[in-house]
Amino acid sequence: MGEVKGFMIHDRQEFKKLPVPERVKNYNEFVIPLSDQELKDQGARCMDCGVPFCHSGCPIGNIIPDWNDLIYRNRWQEAYDRLMKTNNFPEFTGRICPAPCENACVLGFNYPSVTIKNIEVMIIERAYQEGWVKPLPPKTRTGKKIAVVGSGPSGLSCADQLNKFGHQVTVYEKNEYLGGLLRLGIPDFKLSKKVVERRLHRMEKEGVSFKTGIQVGVKLSLKELKQKYDAVVLCGGAEIPRELDVPGRNLKGVYQAMEYLTQQNRVNAGVKIAPDLRINAQGKKVVVLGGGDTGSDCVGTANRQGAQSVKQLELMPRPPKERIATNPWPQWALIERSSTSHEEGVERDYSILTKNLTGNSEGSLKKLEAIRVDFSTKDPKTGRPVMKEIPGSEFDMECDLVFLAMGFLGPRKEGMIQDGGLALDERGNVKTSVNYMTSEEGIFAAGDMRRGQSLVVWAIQEGRSAAEGVNGWLKK
Ligand SMILES: Cc1cc2nc3c(=O)[nH]c(=O)nc-3n(C[C@H](O)[C@H](O)[C@H](O)COP(=O)(O)OP(=O)(O)OC[C@H]3O[C@@H](n4cnc5c(N)ncnc54)[C@H](O)[C@@H]3O)c2cc1C
Ligand code: SF4
Repeated sequence: MGEVKGFMIHDRQEFKKLPVPERVKNYNEFVIPLSDQELKDQGARCMDCGVPFCHSGCPIGNIIPDWNDLIYRNRWQEAYDRLMKTNNFPEFTGRICPAPCENACVLGFNYPSVTIKNIEVMIIERAYQEGWVKPLPPKTRTGKKIAVVGSGPSGLSCADQLNKFGHQVTVYEKNEYLGGLLRLGIPDFKLSKKVVERRLHRMEKEGVSFKTGIQVGVKLSLKELKQKYDAVVLCGGAEIPRELDVPGRNLKGVYQAMEYLTQQNRVNAGVKIAPDLRINAQGKKVVVLGGGDTGSDCVGTANRQGAQSVKQLELMPRPPKERIATNPWPQWALIERSSTSHEEGVERDYSILTKNLTGNSEGSLKKLEAIRVDFSTKDPKTGRPVMKEIPGSEFDMECDLVFLAMGFLGPRKEGMIQDGGLALDERGNVKTSVNYMTSEEGIFAAGDMRRGQSLVVWAIQEGRSAAEGVNGWLKK
């Protein structure tokens, strides 16, 4: 720890952002990093608390106090070395992680926590600038060949680790782009695709092979893959979106959020979309169903496209503004959060159940009908809140576009999982034992496919753990 009373002297300072009218003109990232001195002051706020809860708050166990101190002492390269011991891709997490570490920071008990995430991204960006991020292929190869299916953060971290162990790794991806949701899903304004490509480029130089446009279970069977490789790791994500089962769901103008977001990612990459297939919110009244991150990404995208109005409706009640007694520090705070997309303009409402969608004579969406719901009573047997419609609270709103962002129900079963005869857990995710091996010997699984829809940082953790599992099994 550098400055003994740093946390008393320096206030928490986060990255600044471009003004809203400026940033919604395009899909570029819009944060303005801190200066070296400002960052040093932020590092100095880390207070050597003795039991750094931030470690356990971070799913990959980043050794946060060490790099805070090294930044304070201007020892950037050592901070970079320390960071890379636990995180394969700090340039992703430093941009888009919701930073559970900051919720667990001891300073955050009664002061604003340390700006861990901002420090993380500044360390890795400095490392790239200084040329410290050099390809480091393994010195020796084991002769073992491993296939990783899926190039999202779990597949990439798994491939990166396995390659470091000296195995020859090939990543199979069904899309034309590598990166999973980092590339096709998460908007460019949150994570520039150049950042993803920069990392992929380095991994290729280190010896990882990538094959795009190959859907395992369709173009190539899991059996073939197993015959060809010593081990296979499935990192196919949780791709089944929750559906809206109401009349009018098939009207023109109602889309799954992922149809919308992935199309905009492709357009940003220069892909031409036929006009009748283009989903464009320009001048339209937009309603997003679902109050989570995916919904928030639809809000930001609709505002960039020039929507006339954007509303976001959530079924669950509005979360509290502050932690409640049953959700104490250092737990993840279950409070209402506003994303940068929310700052850009949206009307948010909670406890709303959509009942019906209606359209015009051409089959285009025109109206959403809904009712308010109450969760204040609990099921006496389970103790869980019970949803009750509030009589007389029905209402409707005009809309031209509805985006469904109501969560994901696990991995697609047809193809790879069914053909492989893989066992599933009670939530419909791929079941594994402690070493991440599925019910089939030599086939492993990691990331959202195993865990259910989660976070990039958890996907990285899963990929790393599965790589350990594979490595241990190969040595037997
Ligand atoms: C819109 C959106 C925004 C999000 N924003 C954030 C955020 O800001 N911060 C955060 O931490 N998390 C966010 N998440 C969650 C995060 O992106 C995921 O938890 C994470 O990407 C999961 O990583 P993964 O590698 O397991 O799966 P994915 O990223 O889903 O990657 C799976 C890959 O496998 C490929 N694949 C699937 N089946 C096959 C097959 N049979 N053959 C070949 N390839 C296959 C897919 O095409 C895909 O590329 C967001 C999620 C969404 C949907
Ligand atoms: S990866 Fe996420 S939780 Fe871990 S230190 Fe970075 S911001 Fe915090």
